[in-house]
Amino acid sequence: MTEKLHIVGGGMAGSEAAWQAAQMGVDVVLHEMRPKVGTFAHRTGHLAEMVCSNSFRSDDDAENAVGQLHWEMRAAQGLVMTTADRHRLPAGGALAVDRDPFAEEVTATLRAHPRVTVQESEITELPGESRWIFATGPLTSPALGEAIARATGADQLAFFDAIAPIVYAESIDMGTAWRQSRYDKGETEAERQAYINCPMTKDQYEAFIDALLAADKTEFHEGETADYFDGCLPIEVMAARGRETLRHGPMKPVGLTNPHKPDEKPHAVVQLRRDNALGTLYNIVGFQTKMKYGAQTDVFRMIPGLEEARFARLGGIHRNTFLNSPTLLDDQLRLRALPNIRFAGQITGVEGYVESAAMGLLAGRLAAAEILGQALPTAPADSAMGALVHHITGGAEARTFQPMNVNFGLFRPVEGLKGGRKGRRERYRAYTDRAKAAWRAWLAGAALDAA
Ligand SMILES: Cc1cc2nc3c(=O)[nH]c(=O)nc-3n(C[C@H](O)[C@H](O)[C@H](O)COP(=O)(O)OP(=O)(O)OC[C@H]3O[C@@H](n4cnc5c(N)ncnc54)[C@H](O)[C@@H]3O)c2cc1C
Repeated sequence: MTEKLHIVGGGMAGSEAAWQAAQMGVDVVLHEMRPKVGTFAHRTGHLAEMVCSNSFRSDDDAENAVGQLHWEMRAAQGLVMTTADRHRLPAGGALAVDRDPFAEEVTATLRAHPRVTVQESEITELPGESRWIFATGPLTSPALGEAIARATGADQLAFFDAIAPIVYAESIDMGTAWRQSRYDKGETEAERQAYINCPMTKDQYEAFIDALLAADKTEFHEGETADYFDGCLPIEVMAARGRETLRHGPMKPVGLTNPHKPDEKPHAVVQLRRDNALGTLYNIVGFQTKMKYGAQTDVFRMIPGLEEARFARLGGIHRNTFLNSPTLLDDQLRLRALPNIRFAGQITGVEGYVESAAMGLLAGRLAAAEILGQALPTAPADSAMGALVHHITGGAEARTFQPMNVNFGLFRPVEGLKGGRKGRRERYRAYTDRAKAAWRAWLAGAALDAA
């Protein structure tokens, strides 16, 4: 008798992982605590419940990274995507879903699968035996959260994210901004040039503070509380504490000289720090925010040098249990210290329904292949799936790791293509063409191995 695979959490990731492993011929026990134990966001006992919006975002697989991820999951006969397609609602280029029938069908399909057993139980430990995938999501139950923190070290598991906006490096105007670390600190030239700095005059700073204070903000969901953030306040809350607070905090102008205007002392400076090994993404340091997305782009484009900025992701602060995956997980999504344990979904530091289901798909296949004695390589770096898994398990900066959506900034650049806004469509098509070829090849190899 082959070993059973245990999966904890029947959300987007756990449901997809269970389906993939079962379809490969592995018996799965799916442990889901709902409806016995609830969360503040879930309403039902269904598997794959969409807790908030009913959108899987763009379905454009030619010029959009999340659309490319849809394509890869469909190519792998993913349960979440193929069921979503059957419950699609009109939404232009987006994939919107009729949430209750969608979740009901995922639940019925898994419960009817001869290789899947669904157990309504809360798991509160990381077992030392058998293979397990933990896909317990942003609202992992407190008892399990404590067990994970014990196994990984408390500082390696966060219970809130604090996401600063991330900008595509190529969209920053380096005619205004410049590279320099404060006081030129650092052993190497790369370290002394680690930050990109955007200067502000007094008038620009005052207008920026006015805009921050006036911007539309999102509220915390019922059940979330805001008292966690003292070390990590939203930028607009800092601004509300006093007009000069930011100038003495993340926007302090000291230790920096603007080479474009060496005789002019900036009144304030916004700093951006490299966010991935490829150097394609930069986060705006200390700018975690609860401003609405539309307001964020308007306000952040007031920053000199960011007038034309394109955002790989906007800022946010949410209740969100997630691991420091670059430190803890290998590229097979296994806990380095306890390799019988895998993680999948939002708890690995990806963000969103689609990305979470994608990490479930990958973890399910990798774990099942291991049980069948035919271990698979992880997803190829040029696929959207691979770009994401390589980012969270290695490419991202571990020290400042925050959850990530899939985006083209995670893709290895295609040589010989025009940079900047003008060449964007051609570049995106080149990324998605290359991704499709890489993903097809991986699936073909996986099928051969499993045959
Ligand atoms: C309030 C809120 C709003 C959100 N809105 C959106 C949105 O609009 N769009 C979007 O793309 N993403 C949104 N997200 C993120 C969203 O949760 C993820 O995108 C997605 O649901 C994550 O999938 P997952 O499988 O990792 O986790 P989930 O889908 O949350 O699934 C985890 C499952 O694990 C179960 N579980 C937890 N602990 C245990 C345990 N100890 N034992 C057994 N079972 C357990 C839970 O009951 C749950 O069913 C939101 C998150 C929150 C908290």
